[in-house]
Amino acid sequence: MDILGHYIGGQRVSDSNRPQAVYNPAHGEPVRKVAMASKATVEGAIAAAAAAFPAWSKTPPLKRARVLFNYKALLERHADRIVAAIVEEHGKVWEDAHGELARGIEVVEYACGAPEFLKGEHSRDVGPDIDSWSEFPPLGVVAGITPFNFPAMVPMWMFPMAIACGNTFVLKPSEKDPSAALIMAELLTEAGLPAGVFNVVNGDKEAVDTLLADARVKAVSFVGSTPIAEYIYATGTAHGKRVQALGGAKNHAVVMPDADLDNAVNALMGAAYGSCGERCMAISVAVAVGDQVADELVRRLQPKVAALRIGDGAGRGLDMGPLINGAHRDKVKGYIDLGVEEGAELVVDGRNLTVAGHDAGFFLGGTLFDRVKPEMRIYREEIFGPVLAIVRVASLAEALTLINGHEFGNGTCVFTRDGAVARHFSDAVQVGMVGVNVPLPVPVACQSFGGWKRSLFGDLYAYGPDAVRFYTRRKTLTQRWAVQGVEKAQFAFPSNG
Ligand code: NAD
Repeated sequence: MDILGHYIGGQRVSDSNRPQAVYNPAHGEPVRKVAMASKATVEGAIAAAAAAFPAWSKTPPLKRARVLFNYKALLERHADRIVAAIVEEHGKVWEDAHGELARGIEVVEYACGAPEFLKGEHSRDVGPDIDSWSEFPPLGVVAGITPFNFPAMVPMWMFPMAIACGNTFVLKPSEKDPSAALIMAELLTEAGLPAGVFNVVNGDKEAVDTLLADARVKAVSFVGSTPIAEYIYATGTAHGKRVQALGGAKNHAVVMPDADLDNAVNALMGAAYGSCGERCMAISVAVAVGDQVADELVRRLQPKVAALRIGDGAGRGLDMGPLINGAHRDKVKGYIDLGVEEGAELVVDGRNLTVAGHDAGFFLGGTLFDRVKPEMRIYREEIFGPVLAIVRVASLAEALTLINGHEFGNGTCVFTRDGAVARHFSDAVQVGMVGVNVPLPVPVACQSFGGWKRSLFGDLYAYGPDAVRFYTRRKTLTQRWAVQGVEKAQFAFPSNG
């Protein structure tokens, strides 16, 4: 069986250190293995990135953008190849994998604007013959550590902006679906990116801890679960690095009595069950305002959840594939058992699904709970599977109290026809990304992505304008060029007073 290695200094590097199986979740069988980089291998990747930094940081932003432009064209030409790798190792359905790739490409397109967003800020005549301006030089070597659920898009939340800003990059993708990152590395080289500017190390905690401790790594972007995000933030900042660590979520959709229920129900279906619920922006709680809304939601959702088209994502026209692996499938199943024990009403039970010809696949059917209470663990904890919980409340105020009391604050949305309700909800909700009649308010590439509370550790969001700030440091210059005259010595603090 093939063992995937790394991509360092512009080429594939083979390695057989501590190989781990990579599964096709639809078949439940390993398709290849992936090496777990040792500390020395990761240090080699950091050295390659450090060696590439002086020349890349001095490459004009316009030329960096041209490489990214070529890369965008290559991503489009090789889209099916990348999508096939995502579907094989992650399990999401074909159209969904194309969607994630397209959203990654949008970040590359935004990054092509480097000459514009790196222009700096200029203030003329801040004093007599004095001008002042800010420049935004890159940091150096920066690292990205990414989760399994978006093997192409989430790495592309990070490296296109980092390298557009003049940094060099070491990516540690998820060991569960490592192939997409290696293909993207090859395409960057083909696009003209100099060797060492972008490197991939496959691995686990040993690789991550090496990146966190090495003084040559100036900043770390992380996306994954909250306990690991917290660890990355604490450890990385203790080593003096700039860190942004995006964590888990529990996203609520509030359905108001005046909502267009046809649209709300369809939106909930896609947002709760798309990608088998393995999205950090997945809607996992529907907050029904009033029993009438709740009863109607249950009546309309039940047949649709039971009729989800579930199968091997390599097919076409499916709604949902399998979960990432057997352990995660069992964990999600355990949450369904728990929901029943806790007294929630199980409306659709996905536990006994079988997919013909895929007996060993990690499948689970769509599951719907009604009458879920805020104190239940199935409400409080991130399940990360195809499980939607309906919580009944009496008012918008109660819905807001519920959402604002939750430990996570990634995404949320409200379904309503009332502009004043939408405006009040958007103002009062303590969540980083808010939708109004939009179930997955994932910001476009010219905005930035991030949550509040325990969904993000750090100060800046991913991609967009925040990424320019994250991957650069401000240098402010003040210069005096007088045509003539001698300045007298001044002992008072310089001012325009
Ligand atoms: P994870 O936290 O298990 O892994 C993420 C990365 O951290 C992987 O590269 C992994 O190898 C590494 N890692 C795992 N354990 C580690 C340890 N002990 N020490 C150091 N590194 C470690 O997350 P996952 O299961 O791959 O992804 C699912 C999670 O990611 C969910 O919680 C989901 O909500 C979250 N997520 C969040 C966002 C967001 O934008 N907020 C986006 C996507 C996924």
